[in-house]
Amino acid sequence: MNNNNLYSSDTIGMLYAYIGRYGIAKQVDVLLEEMAELQKALLNNRRGRPHNILEELADVQIMIIQMRVCFDGEYAQNEKTVDDWINEKLIRMRKKMESWK
Ligand SMILES: [Mg+2]
Repeated sequence: MNNNNLYSSDTIGMLYAYIGRYGIAKQVDVLLEEMAELQKALLNNRRGRPHNILEELADVQIMIIQMRVCFDGEYAQNEKTVDDWINEKLIRMRKKMESWK
């Protein structure tokens, strides 16, 4: 089966396999590398140079999901999940928007 939905159980299983194979520290390094590549692509765009922003956004997003598997997975003992944080931050953003009226 080839299910390339980012949040499918097939994809999450693959991300777990990568973590199992390379370890969390190595995958954190990959995220840092991919974020640097995205920064470079964004700067290239701002300077009017050729860029690959979309490819680097994809790389970073995949690594973010992998970090969620590492740090926000079912065995993590965090007080809040990433989704909890996202929800809180979106509420804060909506409140800020109301002050714009
Ligand atoms: Mg990249």
